Amino acid sequence: MGQMKEYMIELMSQMDVEIDFLCPVCGHPVSASFKMDPDVDEHHEDVTCLNDKDEHEWTVVVLHQEGRYTAAVVENPEIDVSLEVDDHADFWEEPDPEPNPYEIFRAAMQEWDRNVDELSVPAGYSSRNRMLLITLYAIAESYFSDAVNGNVVLEPAIQKQLLKTKGLGLADIKISLETILDKPDIVRDRIGIALKSLSYHNLLVVDAVSKLAFGRMILPKDPRERSVAVGSVRKRHDCVHRNGLDSEGTRHVDITPQYLRDLGSIFEGMASALEDAITDARARRYFDAKS
Ligand SMILES: [Zn+2]
Repeated sequence: MGQMKEYMIELMSQMDVEIDFLCPVCGHPVSASFKMDPDVDEHHEDVTCLNDKDEHEWTVVVLHQEGRYTAAVVENPEIDVSLEVDDHADFWEEPDPEPNPYEIFRAAMQEWDRNVDELSVPAGYSSRNRMLLITLYAIAESYFSDAVNGNVVLEPAIQKQLLKTKGLGLADIKISLETILDKPDIVRDRIGIALKSLSYHNLLVVDAVSKLAFGRMILPKDPRERSVAVGSVRKRHDCVHRNGLDSEGTRHVDITPQYLRDLGSIFEGMASALEDAITDARARRYFDAKS
């Protein structure tokens, strides 16, 4: 069996774990993906927040008991850690980024608006409204992921910026000269893997990555809109994983048609801000290269 194939089979037999929480020191997101052996009950992982000025290090412990996974921050067990565990059923189908993600996003949002008109119901706890929230997130998440991945992978200046960011787990990787000779694209590939494994449904992560890669934050400046956007991350998580109940068992009752429309227009603003940030960063690099 070829070395690469052995390596892939080894990767596939592991669980893909994704954790997100907010750094209790600075409030920047901590987002990490790592492998966990399904046969162990306890896994420790050192993670760093995405604060590019002053990074804070934490240790996350993931427990696997009676078929259930839970996660906590060792230094601060009170922190709410969002956890997703994936057995890679869809790994092989992972496609490359779409070439025109913004056009796809705009078309999908028009369709989504029509679906809100036709399908949503007044009750803020209805499963239809929750479905529309999850669909909205899927549309936005695909766009954020394709826009970031498609624009970063080819740009050495952005790659350099991201290599320095500890939160992405790339700063400490040591690669031998032999490996570089064998795989000249290894740096680009490793950055690509790190970026693909970020959780693009965590808007704080998307915001931080946009700042790192393109020099601009994309969360709304307006405090009310910002808080609606940030609060929706947890709502999505509870709708996807807990059937609309929060971790205390309380039902989300405020996912009304008005809330959905409001969030939809906030996401449109964020997508347009990211699109502008990408265009401006590209123009800056063009002029820098000429001068
Ligand atoms: Zn921090």
